[in-house]
Order: sequence, then structure tokens, then C-alpha cells
Amino acid sequence: MIVLVINCGSSSIKYQLYEMPGKKVLARGLAEKVGEESSFLTHRRDDEKFEIAKPIPNHKIGIELILSCLTDASMGVLKNVKEIGAVGHRVVHGGERYSDAMRIDQDVLSCIEECCDLAPLHNPPNLIGIHECRNALPGVPMVAVFDTAFHQTLPRRAYMYALPYETYERYRIRKYGFHGTSHAYITHRAAEMLGKPVGGVNLVTCHLGNGCSMAAVRGGKSVDTTMGFTPLAGLVMGTRSGDIDPAIIPFLMSKPEYSKVAEIDKMLNKKSGLLGVSGASNDMRNLTEAARKDGENSRAQLAIDMFCYRVKSYIGQYMAVLGKADAICFTGGIGENSPHIRKQATDGLDLFGVVMDNEKNESQRGKEMDISMAGSKVKILVIPTDEEGWIAEETYTHVK
Ligand code: AMP
Repeated sequence: MIVLVINCGSSSIKYQLYEMPGKKVLARGLAEKVGEESSFLTHRRDDEKFEIAKPIPNHKIGIELILSCLTDASMGVLKNVKEIGAVGHRVVHGGERYSDAMRIDQDVLSCIEECCDLAPLHNPPNLIGIHECRNALPGVPMVAVFDTAFHQTLPRRAYMYALPYETYERYRIRKYGFHGTSHAYITHRAAEMLGKPVGGVNLVTCHLGNGCSMAAVRGGKSVDTTMGFTPLAGLVMGTRSGDIDPAIIPFLMSKPEYSKVAEIDKMLNKKSGLLGVSGASNDMRNLTEAARKDGENSRAQLAIDMFCYRVKSYIGQYMAVLGKADAICFTGGIGENSPHIRKQATDGLDLFGVVMDNEKNESQRGKEMDISMAGSKVKILVIPTDEEGWIAEETYTHVK
């Protein structure tokens, strides 16, 4: 079966075409700056790359352009769009309703719409992507794979905030957690690497990219996670603050430059994190370079130290939550590619039975590997994430 995976953002559409089962990637690409004059699409087939600079005024045209690339005589991989057997959509928020991927019907569409209030930047473009694909591919089964679903197994004591209970009842304020497709994929791969059934693994999974989150996984299920009601909570991220004292917000709002909700929101989401602390970059590669040049008292070094300290603190917290862990898993752009961040974030954790093999840690990039010392009670695994592949698998499972 041919499965198309669509990840529709407000101004971008990411796609990947798979042959299932087996997850063979036939083609992939990205439409960027949708709605702007400078929009373009990058389409890839094996090692070939095609740049298509065409106006993409809206998502409808974007989806049509993607389908025409997939069936194009010179760069396509299909004779006809009718070969597509199913479409899997990444949907950010499924609220409290969905703990699994769902075949899309009217009921699922209504729920995604209801959750727009909880994810106003993400669910509306996700919905547009679903509608446009349904129009372009009538009758093709579609599946929604939710970022929040994997964390629906959190116990009440972990997902509730100590706010008046009515804020939960009235406004559904609770921890939802995000990056669920990545944490779910890493959990399954880690179980395979450890030679255990998924239901038998306890893990601390660390997704460290531009957005960062961690999860405590007991018996293959998420029991706590660092992101919360929104993806702003938890770890220090590229431009997001992660955890702060909530009283900082009303305090800052009493100052003229932060007196508007939109300003505070922008500050916390776009101007904080590694960028805000360093004043230089949200990109870990640039910061590493800057810290090397400017020394240990630099703000770049401070941002790196805060980043690693927060990861290490949560590892400690989650080890306490789990009691016993089989492995700490690193993924995401930073987790997969940065040996020195992995080292700094796990340094001194021998006390928990976590011992890194420094040579293995430095040995390769972007590959699955066990970087723990032989005999380390808790393994340290590096697992490149594959969110699109996981969406394709979930989609295939739900429609085959
Ligand atoms: P992602 O959002 O998963 O694509 O991850 C983006 C982050 O990964 C950025 O902060 C990049 O600087 C970081 N990253 C990618 N490659 C490396 C590398 N070789 N060393 C350190 N950080 C990296």
C-alpha cells in the first residue's frame, strides 16, 4: 500500500510518500512560505532534488502541487494519484479524547476542531490539510496521528496542575504533552534494541531539537513528560523558555514593554531559550562554536550549561518517578548529533547506574547506537527519530 504522510503547518506543508509495509520512502518534500509571494517547493526522489519556485497562495494549491510532483513524468514516482491507498496526517492536539491514532470521520474532525482552542497555531492548519487532501483524493482513507496521544496515559497526579479544579473543568487546563509520535517511536525502537517487549521497558526519552521534551516511560507507556498545557513548558529550547516561575508573567506585565499579552507570548515563545540567554543564536551548533571562541564566561556557554542542567535535572526526576530505568534515550537534532551535550547532560549520573562510554559517544553521528559503558546498569541509547515513518506505520495499521 502507498501511504502519503502530510504535516501541514500554517505556512508550510511537509510530505513523505511510503510503500508499506517496510516503510520504503519513495519521495518526500516541503512546500514553504505558503501564502507568501516567495513560496516554493522542494521535492526529493532518492538522491535527486527538484526546486519548484511557483506561487503557492494557499494550502489547496500546495496539496495540488505536491500531488502533481508525485505523478510528474520526470520527477514523480506514481502514474496516478489513485495509487495512494491512505493518507496519514500529523495533528498536534487531540485533547483528552484520543490516546491512539484515529481513522478520520466526521466525529474525529469535530474533535480536532474543538481542540483548536487548545492549539490555535497548529490544529487549524492541520484541519486545512485534511480538508484539502479529502477534496483532492476523494474516498481515500485518512488517519489522524496526534502529538498528544502518547501522553494520554499520564496518571492524574502527573497531568493536573495545582490550580483551582474549576480551571480544569471549565477550560481543560492540564498537562497534555507533545512530540508524542517521536517519544512513541523511540520507545518502540529502544525496546527492540534492548531485546525486550515494548510493554516491558522503562525509559527516559529525551527529544532535543529546536523544540525539546522528555518523557518518563513505564512499561512502554508515557507516565510523565516535560511539555505541558502547551509546548512552552519544561526544557530550555531554541527560542522557548521552558519552565519559569509563573509569577514572572504578571510581574513583567506591570512593566511598559511587556504590558500586552501578545508581547509576553512572543517573548516566551520566540525570544527566550537558547536565543534569549545567549543573545546570539537559537542553534546549538552556532552556540557551541561561539562558546568555544568566547570562553566559559560567555553567554553562549551559559545557555549551553542551562540547557544541559535542565535535561539532567529532569533525568533525575524521571529516574525517581520510574524507580528503575532500562535506558536513557537521546533523539532530535541535538540529541542525535551532539556528543558533548549528551555527555554534559549525563555527567555525574553514575549514582543512578548511568555510565557513558566516551569513545562510543564520540564515535558516530546520526546512527542508532548504545553509548553506555559495558556493565552500565542503565543504557544510554542514541536513536534518530522518525516521526513521519511512525505516522506512516500508524496509518497503515489503521487502514490495512
Ligand atoms: P531539530 O529541531 O530536531 O531539527 O534540531 C535542530 C537543532 O539540532 C538545532 O539546535 C541544531 O543546531 C541542532 N543540531 C543539528 N546538528 C547538530 C550537530 N552536529 N551538533 C550540535 N547540534 C546540532
